[in-house]
This record gives sequence, structure tokens and C-alpha cells, in this order.
Amino acid sequence: MSIFSKIAAGEIPSYKCAEDERFYAFLDINPVAYGHTLVIPREETDYIFDLDDKTLADLHVFAKKVAVALKQVVPCTKVGVAVLGLEVPHAHIHLVPMQTEGDMDFRKAKLQFSAEEMQALADKVYAAFKAL
Ligand code: AMP
Repeated sequence: MSIFSKIAAGEIPSYKCAEDERFYAFLDINPVAYGHTLVIPREETDYIFDLDDKTLADLHVFAKKVAVALKQVVPCTKVGVAVLGLEVPHAHIHLVPMQTEGDMDFRKAKLQFSAEEMQALADKVYAAFKAL
């Protein structure tokens, strides 16, 4: 079971931003920008392009809703989208509220926020998502 499956199952804590029966979104613990969020299918597949077509499409539609909620909470120019998957073998989409191109640089030093800041942010995104 991947770490992200355990997160989606509630066995490992996360800063939950959104969920439904098939998908789950939570804050990245090593964010490249404030509001950096990961969106995953609950179903465990390593490589995103190994997902069946419907799951891949529905994952993106779910991520779109998360991005709308995120942009309401975190002022930004746009929400950037990236797929890397080099570290965790469970398909996921990175959503990054961007001010500049540099906000999408995954090689730079990661940002740090307190647990209270992370929880407050996640709660706001969760509320915004539920209100859509
Ligand atoms: P990658 O697989 O290359 O797309 O990177 C995995 C991402 O997951 C990185 O940005 C990590 O900071 C993030 N990550 C790893 N473990 C956790 C966790 N327990 N909670 C939240 N984010 C995580």
C-alpha cells in the first residue's frame, strides 16, 4: 500500500483539501509555493498514464474543482499543473498557485509553514471546495 493510499484511507494524517468517493486532495508537506496541493485517485496506480481513460479524465475534472477552490483561497495569477511522480509511486497531480514561473521550480528549496498555518489553509480550501 503506497503512502498516498494510506493518506487517502486516513491511516496517515494529511492536510485534507477535498475528497469524494474516488479522489482525494491534500497539501504537499514540502511545498514549492503556498497552497501547493496534490490530487490523487484513491485507486493505487504508480504511473498516471497507466490509469484507465475514465479515471484519468475524472481525476482531471476533480483537480479542476480543487484548483478553483484553491484560487479562491490563495490569491495567484493561475494555478499551475504538474505531474512528476519520481518520488511517490502513486499517480498524483501537483496544483501550485503561481505568481511567477519560478513557483513551478521543483528543484528549489522547499517552503515551510507551521502545522497551524497548513491546517488553516487546508480547512479554507476544503470549505471552498464543498461550497462549489
Ligand atoms: P513526486 O512523486 O516526484 O511527484 O513527488 C512527491 C511529492 O509528494 C513531493 O512534492 C513530496 O513533498 C510530497 N509528499 C511526500 N510525502 C508526503 C506526505 N506524507 N504528505 C504530503 N505530501 C507528501
